[in-house]
Parts: sequence; structure tokens; C-alpha cells
Amino acid sequence: MVGCMPEPTPCDLLITGGTVLDLDRADGRIDATVAVTEGIVVAVDPAPDAAERWAPQRTIAADGAYVAAGFVDGHIHLSAVLGAAQPYTAATGPSLFGGAGSTADIGRALHQFLQMPVPADLVEAAVAPVLAALAIGGTTAVVDAGSAGIDGIVAAARRVGVRVAAGPSLHDVLLGDTGEVVPVADAGSVLAAAEDWLMRQQVTPGDLFEPVLTVTEPTFCSDGLLDGLAGLVARTGVAVTFHSHETVESVADHDHAHGRPAIDRLADHGLLGPRCTLMHAGSVSDRDIEVIAATRTCVNVNPLGNGMLGFGAAAERAITRYLEAGVRLVLGSDYTPSMIATGFDLVRAALIVTREAGGADDTLTLEQALRMAANGTVTAGAVADLVVVDRTGPHHVGVDHPVPGLALRARPGDVRTVIVGGRIVVDAGTLVTADPGDLRSAAEAALGLVRSHS
Ligand SMILES: [Zn+2]
Repeated sequence: MVGCMPEPTPCDLLITGGTVLDLDRADGRIDATVAVTEGIVVAVDPAPDAAERWAPQRTIAADGAYVAAGFVDGHIHLSAVLGAAQPYTAATGPSLFGGAGSTADIGRALHQFLQMPVPADLVEAAVAPVLAALAIGGTTAVVDAGSAGIDGIVAAARRVGVRVAAGPSLHDVLLGDTGEVVPVADAGSVLAAAEDWLMRQQVTPGDLFEPVLTVTEPTFCSDGLLDGLAGLVARTGVAVTFHSHETVESVADHDHAHGRPAIDRLADHGLLGPRCTLMHAGSVSDRDIEVIAATRTCVNVNPLGNGMLGFGAAAERAITRYLEAGVRLVLGSDYTPSMIATGFDLVRAALIVTREAGGADDTLTLEQALRMAANGTVTAGAVADLVVVDRTGPHHVGVDHPVPGLALRARPGDVRTVIVGGRIVVDAGTLVTADPGDLRSAAEAALGLVRSHS
């Protein structure tokens, strides 16, 4: 019957009036209404009357705003915030976080950091404001790359409402004074503890938490550990991340200690593949890249962290070479107590480092940088991890396209709404899952406790 409208379809959230970033479309944008139900985007509808077809529980007016997939920090060490309990001292030479730290020293420091016996509730208190700050700036998911107190990190993420992948970080050897392998743990015990931890995790459908196993560095793994890890991965299907190929020196140190390239050791044990991420991996040969591309292994790059920590070898133009080989890249901050980086920071660091290091203006497009920073695109069927970013401020003058708008103009303070798994975490720029002031007070108290015990 003409003029008879069908009954509107119920949905949880309706985002109206926004300009949606969609990097799968040739023009990168679509002015559309976005409907979300049970944590999933169910429609991205450009029809002018699209909003009338839905009966939402809640409508978010995104007029004058961009709608995009949430940012992901693909490499963060959340419990490193406990290091903020130590007073700042100026660097006087090569050091772990001052740059040019040796592989052996970094291994020893990580060994200590990862073994730190910290209670989960203390880690939860210290990490919660970090996750809150990230969420307020538009980050909807983080991958912890190795921390102490994993259970506290998971609790903090659930409390703040941010998606987190985390798990124990494995190694069983360090390097001695002449670069030789020095065992520090029994591979069997390390693997048994990791498997025991994995089995204890209660993950329900729609959970914000995904267990992963991280590996401190192939340099710090015996072949026995890699072999056992491959078996564990095959049995459980768990994702695994490796710090690897950080610098020319760290690669040489690995090959000296183990007698052959790390990529061969990982490939021979069957550890490379789409469920494997190599973290840093800025110092790679063409053959390394060939193997990474052929196995569809993911690579995490941390231009901001590299610049701050003093390793990562962007001078080898790794990002450009990976993109040419079709390797999937994910940006990360490699967070330390020195900074809490938003997706906006990561996108700009990637552009600056890649273009400058590549020596050409076209080595990384805005679209490529945004794709590396976000969790997919806003399309029907995608998980509803979304950000609504205001573009009415004076710093947006003359731009209304989400690609340059988000990559170059927008600031963390422009983030109006953050949605994780369909749940509103930030509303009108305010965290709604917890009081940021309370989180900070609890964290300061926890850091005070750490200070008094160190
Ligand atoms: Zn790291």
C-alpha cells in the first residue's frame, strides 16, 4: 500500500547525521546512519530516511562529527606504569629507555620486569587510569605486549570497558657477557605455567578480553621453548606475539647466540601465520619480509615508541617495504611510563617517520596510516567498536572529509563518544564507566605503595 511505512526495526544504538570513515570505499567516506545491535554494526545506511527505519534504545546525534572504527594500540606494556613510582632522572648515557640499550641489558631488565611479584589489585588500580585516558582519546582496544600482573590488567580493562588482549610473556634464556645463551628457566616449566594460565581463563562470547601469549624475544627463547610453544598454539589456537628484529644489533645478537636467523627458527617451528604478530620488526632483510608476507604474519610497528625508546630502525624503511609486500600492519605505542599515546598520536608518528625515513612524500598515504591505527572499518557485520569525533572546532576549518580530518586535524579532545562492543564507554567526552578522578586517586595510592616498597 502506497505511503505505508513498515514497522521500525528495534536496535540498541542509532548513530545519525555523521560522516562515516570507510576505507573500503573508493572515496573513503559515506554519510550514513549506523545501527548497532548486540555489539555488532547491523547497518550503515546512506538513505536520507534511514533513521526512520529503526527503533533504537538510544540515539547518538553525530551531526558535525566523523564516525570511525575505534583506535587500537597494538603494542603496549600496561604494567610499566608501575615504573612511574620511581622519580625521574636525566639520562647520562645509553640506557633501557634512554636509547641504545644493549640486547643483553634489555633482556635482563625485561626478565626482572616480567617477574615482578605485584598483586593484581595493585596493577588494576595503577593501570585503570591509563586505560581510561586511552578510551577518552578514542582507543577501544589494546594488545598488551608483556606485563607483570596480567589478571589486574584484565580486571582494569573490564572495569573501564576497553577491549584487551593480554597474557604471560615467555622466555627461558638470556644473553651472557660474550653474547652466549644463558638459561634462566626450564622451558617445560615456563610452558606448563602458560598452559595452566590459559586453561584458567574464563572467556565468554562478547567478552572484552582475549588471551594471547607473548614472547619476550626469540633471542631469549631456546629451541625447546619454541617447539613447545608451537605445540601449545596448535592445541589451543591462541594468538601469539613476538618482540623481534628490533635493530641491526639485536638481529646480529640473535644470530650469534642461536646460529641462524630468527625468521627461520620461527618458520621451522610453524609459529608464523595470521595468528602471529611480530612486534617492532623494523630491522628486516628482504628475505624476512618475503617469509612474513608468504605466511600472512601480522607486523606491529611503533614509530612513536621507537623514537622515544631509541630502537626500531625506521631508517631501513621497513614500513614501506612491508606495505609493498602486502603485509598487514598494526600501529602500537610500545608504551612506557613516559607517555600515553592516542591513535591520533600514532597516525601522525607513522606519517612523519615513514615519509621522512622513506625520503619521499608518498611512502605512506593517510588512508594506509588510518588503516594501521584502527580496528577494521565501519561496515555491517563488524564489531561495534566505534568513535564519534567532533569536527566543529576551529582547527577543522575547511575540511569535512574524514581521511584528512581524522589523520591530520582531529585531536583527542574532539572525541565525543566511544563505543566498545556496542556499549557506550565515553559519552559527550566523559568516561561513563568510572570516575576518572577516582581512578587517578586510587592509582596514586597504589604507586605510593610501590614507592614505599622499593
Ligand atoms: Zn614492547
